[in-house]
Amino acid sequence: MIRKLNFFTIFLFAAILFAGEKNKNTTILISFDGFRWDYPYRGLTPNLDAVSAEGVTALSLKPVFPSKTFPNHIAIITGCYPQKHGIIANSFLDKETGRRYRIGDTAEVRKSYWYKREFFWETAMKNDIICASYFWPGSEINDAQRYPDYREYYEHNRDYKIRIEGVLEWIALPENKRPGFITLYFDATDTYGHAFGTNSTQVDSAIGVLDSMIGLLRDGIMKLGMKDSVNLIIVSDHGMINTPQDMIINMDTVLTDVSFRLTDTGPLSGIKTELDYKVLREKISHINHVSVYKKNEMPKYFYYSENEDIDDILLVADPGYTITSGERRPYSSGGNHGYDNNAIEMHGIFFAAGPDFKINYRTGTLKNIDIYPMLCRLFDIEPADGIDGTLENIEYILRK
Ligand code: AMP
Ligand code: ZN
Ligand code: ZN
Repeated sequence: MIRKLNFFTIFLFAAILFAGEKNKNTTILISFDGFRWDYPYRGLTPNLDAVSAEGVTALSLKPVFPSKTFPNHIAIITGCYPQKHGIIANSFLDKETGRRYRIGDTAEVRKSYWYKREFFWETAMKNDIICASYFWPGSEINDAQRYPDYREYYEHNRDYKIRIEGVLEWIALPENKRPGFITLYFDATDTYGHAFGTNSTQVDSAIGVLDSMIGLLRDGIMKLGMKDSVNLIIVSDHGMINTPQDMIINMDTVLTDVSFRLTDTGPLSGIKTELDYKVLREKISHINHVSVYKKNEMPKYFYYSENEDIDDILLVADPGYTITSGERRPYSSGGNHGYDNNAIEMHGIFFAAGPDFKINYRTGTLKNIDIYPMLCRLFDIEPADGIDGTLENIEYILRK
């Protein structure tokens, strides 16, 4: 009896202690689309510099392959590679149903069917943490069990200041309504990088505009007196590289006497042909800057083989090169991304500052799939089973 009582008392005490430890801070995860790892070194980012001085700066953030927007945002928020989380490209065909996932197709991106893994906001909400999203791929999902408590539907041209005001309104809510986790997204560096290239004045001004949003957000947080209870994590989904016209590889000029079809254009494409794989490989072998792979022979570090929807034969261009065919024009004349995720040009940024992060701490390259387990650790909650991310790779940037 005494033993039982003791055990019960200890259990109760531990439970109270644990409950008392619940993280009451709000963490805002901000994505700057296509903000390359080295953009902060252009002298255009006083607000990122301030975050860096107060918190953690990584040398770069390694994306997953393919280094595209949706595969990476979903990797960040699930801790899994695209072959596991399901969004293997911005646009792809589902072999089972014949339906196409496409980032511009609002009806399709809202279907729960496509998203095979648990979003961080789902994990958090299961643990009674209120979640909010001011844009994030996946957040528009139709399934009431799977979307954040508060959310805004994606609107490409929504004024940036209005986005910041929206987030500030959320963190100003009374504690029982205030989100513990918020996502926020801006496209400018990606949009102008595609259109004008990485060294353009347009990209420079986009860098400045996005940096100034961090300034606005920090001012707002300061005015609310919440600097000590808000963490900012600023990331990008991938980098950008210039794609000059003389680096376009038109497959029509390579496979002159062969009937074939490309499933995409740009850095990565599936290829459909009657040709035997070995023959195809031979025909392409003399072409520099394009590699051809069977999907199960892709470089291991791509983690891009084990998914039904990945094409059986893939062409991968070297960074900066564009694969195309026929009349199909390359996606962008300025810059692009989607290439080998080990190429440094494809790497993004990682900054984090606030009560839970180390101060003035610099580290090497982090992997974006490790962010999900780090968020779980931040809130002391259990990650979903079977993720690809590894907490040990990243937890040292946290203060506790
Ligand atoms: P990418 O082709 O990989 O450069 O994709 C970038 C584009 O993704 C941006 O220009 C946005 O228009 C689009 N995008 C980003 N987030 C969302 C979202 N949550 N819903 C729909 N489209 C988005
Ligand atoms: Zn992107
Ligand atoms: Zn892009």
